[in-house]
Amino acid sequence: MNVSAHIEAVYAEVCRRNAGEPEFHQAVGEVLHSLAPALHAHPEYLEARIAERVCEPERQVIFRVPWVDDQGRPQVNRGFRVEFSSALGPYKGGLRFHPSVNLGIVKFLGFEQIFKNALTGLAIGGGKGGSDFDPKGRSEGEIMRFCQSFMTELYRHLGEHTDVPAGDIGVGGREIGYLFGQYKRITNRFEAGVLTGKGIGWGGSQARTEATGYGAVFFAKEMLATRGEGFEGRKVVVSGSGNVAVYAIEKVRALGGTVVACSDSSGYVVDEDGIDLELLKGVKEVRRGRLSSYAEAKPKARYSERGSVFEVPCDVALPCATQNELAGQDAGALVKNGVVAVAEGANMPCTPEAIETFREAGVLFGPGKAANAGGVATSALEMQQNASRDVWTFAQTEARLASVMQSVHAECRATAETYGGSADDYVLGANIEGFLRVAEAMTAQGVV
Ligand code: NDP
Repeated sequence: MNVSAHIEAVYAEVCRRNAGEPEFHQAVGEVLHSLAPALHAHPEYLEARIAERVCEPERQVIFRVPWVDDQGRPQVNRGFRVEFSSALGPYKGGLRFHPSVNLGIVKFLGFEQIFKNALTGLAIGGGKGGSDFDPKGRSEGEIMRFCQSFMTELYRHLGEHTDVPAGDIGVGGREIGYLFGQYKRITNRFEAGVLTGKGIGWGGSQARTEATGYGAVFFAKEMLATRGEGFEGRKVVVSGSGNVAVYAIEKVRALGGTVVACSDSSGYVVDEDGIDLELLKGVKEVRRGRLSSYAEAKPKARYSERGSVFEVPCDVALPCATQNELAGQDAGALVKNGVVAVAEGANMPCTPEAIETFREAGVLFGPGKAANAGGVATSALEMQQNASRDVWTFAQTEARLASVMQSVHAECRATAETYGGSADDYVLGANIEGFLRVAEAMTAQGVV
């Protein structure tokens, strides 16, 4: 069989069967178009039609989420859970609450999650979920009632050995608390391993909150080290100002770099002194406010609602907000300003054109499924602690996180070289390494 023709046929069929889901097509296209060397080397995976099978979720659940707002008016949202692959372990992946959420976005995230989770080397399958509920401007009571209604349907699909959600955009520790409380009430079980990202005092893991941001910086550190460089004295731009962004900023600072800009969906702030983390955390985490109030509190900082945070000159860029936030034009600006490395803290933040621009310019590029794998890896460590009723220290957990990120980085490079690419081709390495791990398990487990 002609491998390239086979890949094109699979891709065309995925687009046809999943019409109107451009983000899902993009995520599938990126993986499939890396796989030719792996399928040449492993004709048995071609024979077993692994590529077609892995693109079809094992199960997709869509449900109504009714709730009552503070004015006593009924509201209705749509809930999703896509259980994509259980080849390597229980479905694992976060829940996103954002008005843009639709089935295609959940499927792109779930698909990415399969290979990311495989790369961690831990026993977790891939899934993702969420709702088009917009938490912005909602009261505590409304958030709690929404989470309770969401879980009242979702609980029947979950379980520590079945499907284990965590947070994502719009879902942090507060929401995980309400979701866990409702799961416990309905099932009458304190099943700690059913959700990750829990509070430290009731089954959560140290360093889980920090893990995705810290992990992305550890990955970027490894990439820089291949060129004999590090974060010390480097200027860094981080997009977003949520969970991933805040802890990426914290770790860059700890490693001697200066984060000069960050953003939210309304604009970006430039602070040449280095983003003041305590101020940022106060604005975003404590008051759940807008980034514009950072600049109001610190007159030396500049806030802009026009243009892009990626126009700010830097050595390293860490996109940590959302999908397709960094387009070809932004990549061009980063290259022109001399960026050395880009690591994706978010899922698929760089468009295909942006990735091509980085490749042509020789910029080190760490794709999300490798660079942001630290979050889910630490979730798996949380599950491990829950299963053994153990509690690890922050230092212990962070050391495990750092070692997972080092090995993900090393394996991406080694696999890229084995399959005929340059060691710097992290896209090739991550896609092939993740695919091979899943393909091996799928083949061994038969046609299920
Ligand atoms: P948060 O909700 O904590 O923060 C999201 C940030 O991104 C906010 O600053 C938000 O701005 C901004 N943002 C969201 N949507 C948009 C948009 N459409 N345009 C511009 N900015 C936007 O989410 P997380 O930090 O948890 O997640 C960020 C990214 O990291 C996502 O891609 C997520 O999938 C990925 N990720 C998260 C993991 C985790 O452990 N949390 C694990 C792995 C990946 P605003 O407040 O204005 O909406």
